[in-house]
Amino acid sequence: MSTPAAAYFAAAARKQYFCYQCNRTVLIAAAAAAAGELSCPDCHGDFLEEVTVPAPTFIPLPFPFPFARCV
Ligand SMILES: [Zn+2]
Repeated sequence: MSTPAAAYFAAAARKQYFCYQCNRTVLIAAAAAAAGELSCPDCHGDFLEEVTVPAPTFIPLPFPFPFARCV
């Protein structure tokens, strides 16, 4: 049985980088970035710079987690 919350946070665990070769921002998995495996998913270059974004604010979901009412 999969947990929607785990999938949600796994998908959100990405960092934003700016690729100077593609001249655009790309998303790289935080785990890969932490392992030093920085490469652009498009051009596979490593000329990337991390984009610092403001602290994430709480993003309200359109509906509550289905298991919330089971707690
Ligand atoms: Zn690129």
